[in-house]
Formats: sequence, C-alpha cells, structure tokens
Amino acid sequence: MIPHSLPTINSKMIAAVAQSMRAGQVSMGPQVSAFEADFTRKFKIEAAAVSSGTSALHLALLALGVGKGDEVILPTYVCTALLNAVNYTGAKPVLADVELEGGNISATDVRKKITRRTKAILVPHMFGHPADMKPLLKLGVPVVEDCAQAIGATYDGRAAGTMGCINIFSFYATKMMTSGEGGMVVSSDRKLMSRVRDMLAYDHKDVYRIRFNYKMTDMQAALGRVQLQHLNGFIVRRRKIAALYDQRLGGVGVVLPAKPGVAASAHYRYVVRLNGGVDHAIKAMAKRGVVCAKPLFKPLHQYLNKKGFPVADQLMQESLSLPIYPLLSDAQARRVADTFKKVMERV
Ligand SMILES: *Cc1c(COP(=O)(O)O)cnc(C)c1O
Repeated sequence: MIPHSLPTINSKMIAAVAQSMRAGQVSMGPQVSAFEADFTRKFKIEAAAVSSGTSALHLALLALGVGKGDEVILPTYVCTALLNAVNYTGAKPVLADVELEGGNISATDVRKKITRRTKAILVPHMFGHPADMKPLLKLGVPVVEDCAQAIGATYDGRAAGTMGCINIFSFYATKMMTSGEGGMVVSSDRKLMSRVRDMLAYDHKDVYRIRFNYKMTDMQAALGRVQLQHLNGFIVRRRKIAALYDQRLGGVGVVLPAKPGVAASAHYRYVVRLNGGVDHAIKAMAKRGVVCAKPLFKPLHQYLNKKGFPVADQLMQESLSLPIYPLLSDAQARRVADTFKKVMERV
C-alpha cells in the first residue's frame, strides 16, 4: 500500500532528539532558541516557536489586538484550525470564497466582505501554492499568512511568511517539515513579536494577564532543526514527483494543478480536479494499493450551514489528492500515475 502522506524521519533526526533528552532539557530550552535562530537566519525575519500551527494563529491574532466586536476574514475552503483560532479570540469569523485555480482565498470576494470592523485577513497558501498576495496586500487590512502548507514557497521572489504583518507555520506530522507537533510565529514588527513572546508562556511575569502555555519543547525543536536543514532537499524531491505526475497525467482528462504565475509552489499536495466521481476514484485507487484522499474534509461554510460559496463547493466535488512526499520513490510515483491513468480510463 502506498500511503497518502508520510513524514521523513532519519537517524540524524533521532540522534538529535536523543541528544536533547540526554541534555536533560525536555521543555523549552536552548534547542528552541536555536530553532528560532535557524529560522530567522533562513527567512530573515524574527521567529517565535510555539506548540502548534493553531496556537501560532491564535497568538498572531491576539498580537494584532483582535478580540470581541472585531471581524476576521478567512477562506471557507480550509481546515477548522483557522476557524477555531478566530473563535478563541471572540472575534466574528467572516468567510470568503476561493479561486478555482489553486483553491486560495479570492481577493475579489474578500473586498466585498470588508467592513469597518475587519481587523485581519487570514491567508492560507493552500497545498503549497502561494495565494495571489498583491491584491490582498492592497486591501488596507493586516494580512496574516498561514504557511502551514507552504514553507519554502515563494511569491514574486519573496518567501511565503515574509509578506503579511505577522505570519505562521505548522510542523504537524504530515506537513512540509515536522517537529511532531509545533508551529512558528514570524514578523518583522518588534512590538507584535514581543506580545507573542509574552503570551506564549505564563511563568516569571511581573504583571498578571491571561497568557497561555503554548511553548515548544526542546525535543520538538531538536527534530525541527534537522528537518529545516533538509527542507530544500524535501522541496526538490517534491518538485520532481510533481513534474513526473504533470508529464504522465497530461492526457488523462483531469485538470492538473495550476502553475502559479509569479509564484513557486512548495508542492505540499498534488491535487487534480475530476469531472465528478472522486469517491469512486479514491476507492478504485485503494483497491489497487494507492491511498488517495479528498484534500479537505469539509469546508467551513458547510459546518456553519451557510450558502453562497460556489467555488469551494465545486472544489469539494472535484478535487482528489495523490500521494506526494520526499520518501515516495520514482518507481512508486510512476506506479501512482499509471494506476490513476488506468482508473480514469475505466470511468
Ligand atoms: C495544519 C494546518 C493548520 C494547523 O496546524 P496545527 O499544527 O495542526 O495546529 C493551520 N492552517 C493550515 C492551512 C494547515 O494546513
């Protein structure tokens, strides 16, 4: 069976975690500081490590001063982590539809939903493809880039995570790189970052206010640091698999992932669009030893019983995600493509 996703864990990573444990520092310590410094060196932006992408989103919104009475715009075609983060702050989540090509938030729909109360726009770069940042950054509302799926992607020569006011990453098991669980908040705004650092840990504070235990541990950071060293190699490998799929699936009658114009994808997911029959195709692939998946479980507007998001509904009907990850060999990728071709010829 070829799994849909798989983290890369090598002996160097296991040794790094063991070393951090031998050092006796199992909560936040020198490895966390070193991970943040590595991140800052790579992306040229101040970084604060946290316990997850969700806690990173929560802190980013709080640092921007988002709270009760405010509105935050986010796309409907995304996992519930973003909806949770907005609801944690007490602000009102306002959903926007997405673009058919790439599934990213639509700047045109966002513009229609901005009010006097809009405090922030959450912009996830879906499946590793950067959203079209230019029109989003022109809207005059702070943008929070969610790079949980897009670390290493670029837009117009700029790294994902360096364009919004305050931005986040996730290192969950199956993301581009992992620390088991974990996340990072980044910003070049000193004031925002000092708020994030203050809120992510509760001890040794002169003045009481509500804070959180959102710390990363040294064991996680030790793994994350070695993963970060491998990130470029991971992306090269993913790009190669995507190119193989592009080449082999050309005439299969499905819509292949869009090539974003000024952007370079991190190739987190390889998502194709079918003319219906996604559930059937997933079952047929599984029968032949390849696990495929719907790239999103359920869009937010369906949880909230809202209508008026035709593009997200269409993407839910048509999208199928093929296995792509650094450990997938060329031979396995060829098998995935050829199996998919056969399945599509039958329907
Ligand atoms: C995974 C993910 C998150 C949440 O990250 P966790 O580390 O699982 O909390 C947020 N946004 C997007 C786009 C994600 O893919």
